[in-house]
Amino acid sequence: MSVKGGYFFRILDVDLTRGETTIVPIDESFVLKYIGGRGFGARLVADHLKKSGGKCDPLGPENILVIAPGPLTGVYLPASGKNSFVTLSPATGIYGDSSMGGVFGVELRQAGYDAVVLRGRAPELSVLTIEDDRVGILPLPQAAGVSTLEAEKLVREATGDEDMKIASIGMAGENGVVFSCVNADWSRNAGRIGIGAVMGSKNLKSIAVRGSKDLPVYDLDALVRVSREGYDYLKSHEFFRFWQEQGLMSVVDYANAMGILPTHNFKETVFDRADKMNGYVMEDRYKISDTACFGCSMSCGNVCLVREGKYRGTVTEGPEYESAAMLGSNLGASNFAYILKANALCDDLGVDTISTGSIIGSMIEGLEKGILTQEDLDGDEITWGDEEGILRLIGKIAGREGVGDTLAGGAFAILKRWPDMEGVLSHVKGLEQSAYDARAAISMALGYGTSDIGAHHTRAWTVASELENGAGWGLEEKAEFVIYHQTIRPLFDMLGVCRLPWIELGFPEEYYQRFYQAVTGVERSMDDLLECSRHVYDLTRTINVTLGINRKDDYPPKRTLVDPVPSGPTKGNVVDRDEYEKILDLYYEKRGWDSDGKPSLSL
Ligand code: SF4
Repeated sequence: MSVKGGYFFRILDVDLTRGETTIVPIDESFVLKYIGGRGFGARLVADHLKKSGGKCDPLGPENILVIAPGPLTGVYLPASGKNSFVTLSPATGIYGDSSMGGVFGVELRQAGYDAVVLRGRAPELSVLTIEDDRVGILPLPQAAGVSTLEAEKLVREATGDEDMKIASIGMAGENGVVFSCVNADWSRNAGRIGIGAVMGSKNLKSIAVRGSKDLPVYDLDALVRVSREGYDYLKSHEFFRFWQEQGLMSVVDYANAMGILPTHNFKETVFDRADKMNGYVMEDRYKISDTACFGCSMSCGNVCLVREGKYRGTVTEGPEYESAAMLGSNLGASNFAYILKANALCDDLGVDTISTGSIIGSMIEGLEKGILTQEDLDGDEITWGDEEGILRLIGKIAGREGVGDTLAGGAFAILKRWPDMEGVLSHVKGLEQSAYDARAAISMALGYGTSDIGAHHTRAWTVASELENGAGWGLEEKAEFVIYHQTIRPLFDMLGVCRLPWIELGFPEEYYQRFYQAVTGVERSMDDLLECSRHVYDLTRTINVTLGINRKDDYPPKRTLVDPVPSGPTKGNVVDRDEYEKILDLYYEKRGWDSDGKPSLSL
């Protein structure tokens, strides 16, 4: 199998402590096995962990941060703007990655790299500049504490370059908030697992890139043919227009109708004011424009403006469903203008909206249940729907002020201080649960429980399929379905494309094999590509096992197993513990892992 396109065959390695850069060549066998994106990142993190003797402090200079687009990133085909950030997570202490859209990753490829590895720690707050082969580390102390957008402005002033693509952290990343994000292109985030804090621990406020190279494509004519076909497929889909209008905000009504909408910290799954915060409210009263990532005709981004009231003047891209649900219904708040304000604040400060909403919801419930006292929250009172209190707490988390210092440490720090919060704060392996209740669908519980980064929905979003079609499925089919999701979804991150066309508009899988073949010249079946993804999942599990993960860590949040849903269409649902043990056994067996969840692979 020879690779004729798709790669530059080189990785840029930057030692921030020494101010040195190295070009590391990669060979054909490496790109064939790991494909790109998350695959490259997982391999590089595994190699680094092995060299470090199986130990690495995620916030120490010894941790590495890999930024890796895929072979399809930036190429003419639908939704090809994705780029993976891969590292060891300060939130969970284990493997972590996040996929960011927009155009930042495209520019990185145009600079001529298949990945960038950052190691060490710059002597002072800095921006890394990459202009093709010219790489520099520029002090940027004036950016301390500023928002992600303000950081972009300061980088442009410092470099004198208006066109660089810039990824930055906010105050939260500088302060080591373990669920802080990296933000680029105004509205695109690498979120969830604390990549912002890893960048902050390296004294890196921003990364600015400008590339001028053509991307290597093996058969341009074939690519144009299949891409046109793909764009036509999407355009002719009955929900294409609706998707452009609402994007992921359309999920609010769906989740509420199905009884999986996080409400009052996941105590409930239906919100009686969901119609005040759904996609139609956004569309009718707040939306002023669409935005899209590179190459994407689906343009799911929604630019919104608050025109009146106390949040007047707030402009933000979003919220996506998960942000609206976690900062809205999960906190008992339905005022859409407030949701936009909270979303914009999280983006400016650089914190993940899902974890932030989950943690604040657990604080409110903790107070309600008497597990916490008002003194624990610095004498502050906070209740469901308390917009001012919520916004204040977001600021305290990013600034690590008062109780915010504990909350900034995420689930593990909260549970260390208040162990009785275990049944209140929903998390897996230290990562707070995403915006889909799992009590009605054991496959979703298994997806959360076995996800290699913790309770995040993007690894296996199986809840809708199980609720709609799973009546006749046994545990075996459900375990297989989770593995299928955990295999195909990460493949999109390896290729450098967005998974939403496949999820939302049923974009057929075979297109990805055809895109890959046209770009790389490598003839492989979809099964072959999926096998590569499956190997990478084994590898990330092996990283986690090396770091101490085993069966005891593969359970869904406690609430999923003990608190029946109190009302709504999923009333009475709870995942049965014995059933879960059975499905976990099946899952391990089908993956070829032992009964403790250990793959036969070694680092
Ligand atoms: Fe970006 Fe949305 Fe298009 Fe995906 S569907 S590439 S997130 S605009």
